Amino acid sequence: MQRERVVIIGSGPAGLSAAIYTARGMLHPVVITGTQLGGQISLTSEVENYPGLFNPQSTPTGPDMVELMRAQAEHFGARLVYDEVTGVDFRNGPPFTIKTHGETYQADSVIVTAGASPKHLGVPGEAEYVGRGVSYCGTCDGFFFRGKDVAVVGGGDSAMEESIFLTKFADKVTIVHRRDELRAGPTLQRRAYANEKIGFIWDTVIEEIAGNDVVQNVVTRNVKTGEVSELPVDGVFIFIGHYPNSEFLVGQLAMDEHGYVITDEFMRTSVPGIYAAGEIQDPHYRQIATSVGQGVAAALQLERWLADKEE
Ligand code: NAP
Repeated sequence: MQRERVVIIGSGPAGLSAAIYTARGMLHPVVITGTQLGGQISLTSEVENYPGLFNPQSTPTGPDMVELMRAQAEHFGARLVYDEVTGVDFRNGPPFTIKTHGETYQADSVIVTAGASPKHLGVPGEAEYVGRGVSYCGTCDGFFFRGKDVAVVGGGDSAMEESIFLTKFADKVTIVHRRDELRAGPTLQRRAYANEKIGFIWDTVIEEIAGNDVVQNVVTRNVKTGEVSELPVDGVFIFIGHYPNSEFLVGQLAMDEHGYVITDEFMRTSVPGIYAAGEIQDPHYRQIATSVGQGVAAALQLERWLADKEE
């Protein structure tokens, strides 16, 4: 088994940025990509807020950015492995052990950037209708709802952004929000309110998703009046936040009560030599730019740590 200098777990903006920096630092990083190269941004349509890449004539997409970052990382010598981590041993190292479906790696240092996944509502019908009307990704599934009516759950930036995107396909997008004000920032709020295809149902939760072969309606309840209603829709898009993909790290790294890996300002985890960056440790910002910054910080810090050890 070859001993690596650096293994990076995950290939989102944090992971690929860490790969670019550690590769340029001649550390020959191995990047274990996870199931989806690029992570969540590979499912993002247009990226308007990444500094320096804005072009109103042709806004870059998430996949465009993934491709640019991947090519840059490989150009400088990062090795991408299209596999998924199944377990780690960070307690008895270095070398640390990282197991994937196909291989076991030993590494002097690790950067964990495994990201986050969309939260589920947990209501009857949700799991049953995934892929048959229930979705967590407008970019992936919006196309299937051309000329149809859909409900969107959530009041944050994701719900607004995805609702606006869905109006490219759907006839009507009804945002069902559990409060009477949105959490989303002012720009996205303004755009959602200005969009004629978007309507709002306030103070309301979805209690059940129902249909035959595919979704046909949702049962809603007004949380203030208790009134139960039915809303006929062909699809339900759920954007109610995320949870960190940290299950494989339980017992290995210190985490908060929501499963986010705890890091200090140098992206150090509870184990010297193991760093974390991006959404696995950041419930607050969740921006491509912040993940990139955290990935870079982790890489620089790790380089210093390895150099200090070898002095
Ligand atoms: P979020 O800000 O946490 O919003 C989640 C929304 O879902 C909230 O409105 C919340 O309601 C609602 N919600 C949570 N649990 C629910 C449940 N069980 N049932 C019904 N509704 C529920 O998540 P997000 O929109 O994914 O955004 C996360 C972070 O990413 C934010 O910091 C956001 O700014 C950022 N982001 C930025 C952009 C951008 O800049 N373009 C795009 C996407 C995301 P309450 O409001 O009542 O809590």
